[in-house]
Amino acid sequence: MIEIFSNKGYLFIGIIIIANIIAFNEIIKILMIKKSREFDEKINATTNIFKSTMDIKDILDALIKNLYEILDFDAAISIFKNDNDYELMACHGYGEKTNISSFLQENKCIEIIKKVIELDKPYYIKDLKKIEYTYYNTEFQLLLYHMRSLLIIPIIYKKNIYGLVMILNNKKAAYNVASIAKASSLASQVAVAIENAMLFQKLKDMDKMKTDFLSTVSHELRTPLTSIIGFAEMVKRKFEGSIMEELDLENEKNKRVVGTIKRNINIILSEGERLSCLINDLLDISTMEAGKISLNMREIDIEEIINQVITLTNPIIRDKSVQVILNIRESLPKIMADKDKLVQVIINLISNAIKFTEQGCIVCTARAVEGNIIVSISDTGIGIREEDKKNIFEKFSQVGDTLTKKPRGTGLGLSICKYIIEEHGGEIWVESEIEKGSDFSFSIPISGQK
Ligand code: ADP
Repeated sequence: MIEIFSNKGYLFIGIIIIANIIAFNEIIKILMIKKSREFDEKINATTNIFKSTMDIKDILDALIKNLYEILDFDAAISIFKNDNDYELMACHGYGEKTNISSFLQENKCIEIIKKVIELDKPYYIKDLKKIEYTYYNTEFQLLLYHMRSLLIIPIIYKKNIYGLVMILNNKKAAYNVASIAKASSLASQVAVAIENAMLFQKLKDMDKMKTDFLSTVSHELRTPLTSIIGFAEMVKRKFEGSIMEELDLENEKNKRVVGTIKRNINIILSEGERLSCLINDLLDISTMEAGKISLNMREIDIEEIINQVITLTNPIIRDKSVQVILNIRESLPKIMADKDKLVQVIINLISNAIKFTEQGCIVCTARAVEGNIIVSISDTGIGIREEDKKNIFEKFSQVGDTLTKKPRGTGLGLSICKYIIEEHGGEIWVESEIEKGSDFSFSIPISGQK
């Protein structure tokens, strides 16, 4: 009886132990899944931070913060490798008095950094007190003071090293293979982010170089061009005045020569003017791209400005069966804006409307809508294809079939308009139907506040 009881007892205890082991395994599994999910979430969150910033220091700051949650270290330093220099970027756990940058110049420290770069993988010292590591006992030792574990993780992407993080813990053998692998995985994300940030910076630098180049070249071109146009005008005046008076215009040969000379001078003048417009546009765009545009905000009457522009554009509709009409039905409040810049925008839009309309009407309207004035210029011209609408506000974009005899231009006018309107805190857009016409509109906050 006792035997049976004790057998049953063992069986019972055995079952309980097995059940406990299974339950324990399940708990461990759940915990591991939870941990791994947490880690994935952390990686995702970190990747998002990395995507949202193009600043290398911010990226390395975020890396240290996230590594802290994985490795629970006592101190950490992140170093950015800039060509052959090492720059301290972020650090955790050292007081302000510790001059870490100076330790980074120290031979032993550089030696370790170089070693990690050569190794191309994490470098881990489980116990700094072991005899073989006592040779770190130099100035650099101050950084390692009281620390037992040292883990250095390189920040590598496609064999390019962008820096490293030094992790210090006052516990011996603080990390295992799994935690080192997780930390390395995070560091590779950072390497990608740094590579993107560096590419972005390179693009920004190149863009700036291009803008500076455009601005210098345009400026240099403007001076001789002004002389060319000025002298051509002088030659035209002289020729049409005193020279022609001296010529016998009854003579057929003279008549032909005079006609040719007049045509040629007019070509010099009109092409000169065209080049001058292009140069002015280039100068405008480079000034705006360099962020040097400054608005002279004053109270202005938009109706008066549109009227003024319509009068200015009268000469270009002379040989077209096109009419420009102003249609404002309400009395509009004055707005705060830069008058000259707004005139530039409206001239651009009305001249485009005239340029792309062979016959019909160009109607200019303005209305007040929710704290904004909306100005629209609609035409009955060639219209713009749906797929081209998104491109026309880009620099140098001229859409449609470039082989047809489309009016010439620079493809800069609309991008200049966009800059000016956005600088005022407004928006510019187009609605259009091919062969029916286009309707360009922009909004400007009445108060002038962005
Ligand atoms: P461009 O100097 O070539 O006119 P813009 O930037 O002012 O440069 O215009 C870009 C392109 O947008 C034009 O080349 C033309 O294809 C299209 N576009 C602009 N305004 C109109 C319009 N009113 N009707 C049809 N197409 C237009």
